[in-house]
Amino acid sequence: MANYYIWTAGCQMNVADSEQLAAQLEALGYARAGSPEAADMVVVNSCVVRQHAEDRVANKLNALNASKKVRPSQTIALMGCMVGPKTEDLRRRFPHVDVFMRPQDFGPLLETARTQAAAEGCLPAPVELPVNGPTAFVNIVHGCDNFCTFCIVPYRRGRERSRPLAEVVAEVEGLVARGVREVTLLGQKVDSYGHDLGPGLDLADLLTAVNRVDGLDRIRFLTSYPLGVTDKLIDRVARLEKVCEHINIPVQSGDDAVLAAMHRGYTSAQYRDRIARIKHGIPGVSLSTDIIVGFSGEDEAAFQRTMDLLEEVRFDVVHVAAYSVRPGTIAARTLADDVPDEAKKARLQRVEALQERVATELNGPLRQREVDVLVETRKDGRWEGRTRTNKLVHFPVDASDLRGEMARVKVVSTSPWSLQGELISAG
Ligand code: SF4
Repeated sequence: MANYYIWTAGCQMNVADSEQLAAQLEALGYARAGSPEAADMVVVNSCVVRQHAEDRVANKLNALNASKKVRPSQTIALMGCMVGPKTEDLRRRFPHVDVFMRPQDFGPLLETARTQAAAEGCLPAPVELPVNGPTAFVNIVHGCDNFCTFCIVPYRRGRERSRPLAEVVAEVEGLVARGVREVTLLGQKVDSYGHDLGPGLDLADLLTAVNRVDGLDRIRFLTSYPLGVTDKLIDRVARLEKVCEHINIPVQSGDDAVLAAMHRGYTSAQYRDRIARIKHGIPGVSLSTDIIVGFSGEDEAAFQRTMDLLEEVRFDVVHVAAYSVRPGTIAARTLADDVPDEAKKARLQRVEALQERVATELNGPLRQREVDVLVETRKDGRWEGRTRTNKLVHFPVDASDLRGEMARVKVVSTSPWSLQGELISAG
């Protein structure tokens, strides 16, 4: 039997694409290989959001050159954001790569797989595929129309394209039939969902439809563009029982001039207004955000406005990165990278320190509370899962296998990053 190996870099959208491709390869009779060296087909699912990610992909591809020399029949495919509309340059740099595929464009590889499977006379009957644990990612809208000046995504993933509602619901039903209890609906701007599908259809409607899927327990969605979090969406998140009370809503900066330079399309006042509506409309909501420090033109006063916003909103989680120029973006062409590296590093540390304090203060009161945890995996001798509000929870392993179970856990201690508890019951 032929087998495959997929190496995935980058965001959850890439993880979802890899899972979807794996399912389609397995439906063709391919089995999962334990290593690239052991595989007939190796797929590198690439990310170029940061230079570091692109370098890792290039290193991986170079390493595969050696494995292909040992095994010349091996098919190597490069997929994802590194593959733009033109591939000449990539073909020159990586002549050992056989197939190039843009994000979600699985066709060329599946064609090769089908031909190989047919040649071996092993085209199988459709099979029920196993899934990887009780949670799954589902891409619902591809691409982004925003063109934030620092971001390469619109150039690599193209314009926004929503998947038909019925197709998404059918995929979720299929996942549930194979043991999934929680889905995360994904989009670079997830709240753009439906704009291209016809008047009136939006993410709130999709959540309503997915909420009806029997056997599903939890629904999450990310990433939210602040102005896309409408009152209708807030209302549905509050009312639909399976939709979790957690919103990932990147602000990037608390300073209006920096936000304008980033082309984010909102002011800090508009962002604050969205947050106030979310907090008022969804009791107990948890919030996470993304911050870039040291963007072009960010002086000390501008940075302080970001700190003020973080202090005021009190996010549960903050993902912070120091600005680094991404070739091919508007910022790379038109804006100076004018904040010294030491200042970027210092600001990054100040955000991390503030967030550590805020998260400590937010998690502390959860001590002695009972929370519902969907158990995802066993790690370092402990069960690991998440609450509806996306808090990571660990509790000790006993004799029972709790993977995929909903566990009632009493929190006994907390840290800024996770909760530690004791099992009360599971089922
Ligand atoms: S909203 Fe901005 S940061 Fe997000 S994917 Fe689109 S262009 Fe990039």
